[in-house]
Amino acid sequence: MEIKANNPNLKSWVKIPENSDFPIQNLPFGIFYSDKKSKRVGVRIGDHVLDLFELYQNGFLNNLNLSASDLNNSFLNKLMGHGKTGMRNLRDRISDLLSIDNIELHSLEGGFDNILIPVSSVQMSMPVNIGDYTDFYSSKEHATNVGMMFRDPANALLPNWLWIPVGYHGRASSVILSGVDIHRPKGQIKPDPQGDPVFAPCRNLDFELETAFITFDGKPLGQSISTEEAEHFIFGMVLFNDWSARDIQTWEYVPLGPFLAKNFASSMSAWIVTLDALQPYKVDSPKQDPEVLAYLKFEGKKSYNIELEVSIKPENTEETVICRSNFKYMYWNMSQQLAHHTVNGCNIRNGDLMGSGTISGATPDSFGSMLELAWKGTKPIALVDGSERKFIQDNDTVIMRGHSVKGGVRIGFGEVRSKILPAL
Ligand code: CA
Repeated sequence: MEIKANNPNLKSWVKIPENSDFPIQNLPFGIFYSDKKSKRVGVRIGDHVLDLFELYQNGFLNNLNLSASDLNNSFLNKLMGHGKTGMRNLRDRISDLLSIDNIELHSLEGGFDNILIPVSSVQMSMPVNIGDYTDFYSSKEHATNVGMMFRDPANALLPNWLWIPVGYHGRASSVILSGVDIHRPKGQIKPDPQGDPVFAPCRNLDFELETAFITFDGKPLGQSISTEEAEHFIFGMVLFNDWSARDIQTWEYVPLGPFLAKNFASSMSAWIVTLDALQPYKVDSPKQDPEVLAYLKFEGKKSYNIELEVSIKPENTEETVICRSNFKYMYWNMSQQLAHHTVNGCNIRNGDLMGSGTISGATPDSFGSMLELAWKGTKPIALVDGSERKFIQDNDTVIMRGHSVKGGVRIGFGEVRSKILPAL
């Protein structure tokens, strides 16, 4: 189905800086506020934010079945209750209003300064009230690298990995917005492998380069979502840094998997790029061998070409790009993840967050974590200021960026950035 707002020929009357992540073909959703405005729904265009509540109040969003509380709201969840079709119609209408030939906002008596606001004058807030957070483990390269380091290089992938989109249930309460600093976590570590554990600040603090998708309401408990239906239940995607304390993880993860090594913080980008906007960037996924079970089979393209990069910025110096990867490397796609998640009858809800798992490519410069980039501390990464990193140090800022390009149209996610403060 053709999505009007994705037309690559569209131009906006809003000035879009060159190489912006936010041309008229993107129109991602977020929650913003300012000195003058309470938290509300906004859409990003170039270096501006469109205030959807003000648009609604001025009669520009009629005939979309919206109510004021959908937009004058500190989370997107209520608006997302309109589902895939409702959100698509809203994005199409916003695209119309911002198109170069449309004069509706220009005709508004008193001007539109209160509707289209410079992004520099607003603050962003968590866009979604996240109910449940699930994290997958869907990069074959990442799973292989970790298996080689922690278990057995000859049998790096566990036997189930090529059959199951492996995942676990994470912690929603500590998912935080880009720009929120976090303190180095503390916990049980074993600096001496032969000795007893000690309680101390994490010494091997790591990021995980991920994306995450956010769902609409799914089906009732007991029913399943097929790979064919899955994208209908996905609202959009964000960049996601799934912070990981590797030394805490090494000691605690047997037999139930990571716990405190992962639940202290996970950072997400502020603008939710709709899955609709990403449709032009669909690509084939890696070939799956052995053939997957019937409920995991899918037709057509289900992966997306999203270029990703990670930088480390030490205090007071410039940043160094330490990793370039791509979402399309993922072995298991989002439709398979969602089909697997619900195949036993587990219900998903409006505002659930599903992490992709660390997105590593085949080459050492495309690995999506410090654990892999510096190969468990044996190959330190050089930064432009002359320092080296095996893991993330206090006062380092980790920045992740991502975008898709095709036919001269670039849509992106902005960034997710967080600084590590010393342990409390
Ligand atoms: Ca993860």
